[in-house]
Amino acid sequence: MPRDPHSTLNTMSNSDPISRNGLSTRFWEKKPLDQFSQMEWEALCDGCGKCCLNKLEDADTGEVALTRVACRLLDDETCRCTQYDIRHQFVPECIVLKPSNLDTHAYWMPQTCAYRLLWQGKPLYDWHPLISGDPLSVHQAGVSVWRMTVSEFETPQDEWEDHIIQEPL
Ligand code: SF4
Ligand code: SF4
Repeated sequence: MPRDPHSTLNTMSNSDPISRNGLSTRFWEKKPLDQFSQMEWEALCDGCGKCCLNKLEDADTGEVALTRVACRLLDDETCRCTQYDIRHQFVPECIVLKPSNLDTHAYWMPQTCAYRLLWQGKPLYDWHPLISGDPLSVHQAGVSVWRMTVSEFETPQDEWEDHIIQEPL
């Protein structure tokens, strides 16, 4: 299905569930990740939802591929976890990303993920809500999971390879 963000994103709320008010201008360029406040750390998430896609890792090369097969709790209309606060009751393996464990996880994070970009010393993209000021800009840029996933319940694991996606989406 072709993406038509101009018409269909109108159905998505443009209120930002991530609080970004009152943050210092371009704070992410002024200090290392481990000196971010909790609010700054949370605000770094662009809301793309791609970290909630199942991944395939090549055992020999360590290469990681994202698939369209989504975690059972992901809603691809909002690109959000439907049970974020209690998600570990359903998905105990869901990680809690922190400055202290970013070294361990960055290699499998999506290539456009803000945490991975800063960890790599790269700038954020202009579509990041911290720069655009608009939480929908990540979807309009076509780099989110909006309406592109398939269910992990309905997709046997031996078929996940058929659902590998290339980044950026
Ligand atoms: S991939 Fe990164 S930026 Fe996107 S939702 Fe996950 S943590 Fe946030
Ligand atoms: S439990 Fe929620 S936050 Fe964790 S991977 Fe699944 S949808 Fe994403």
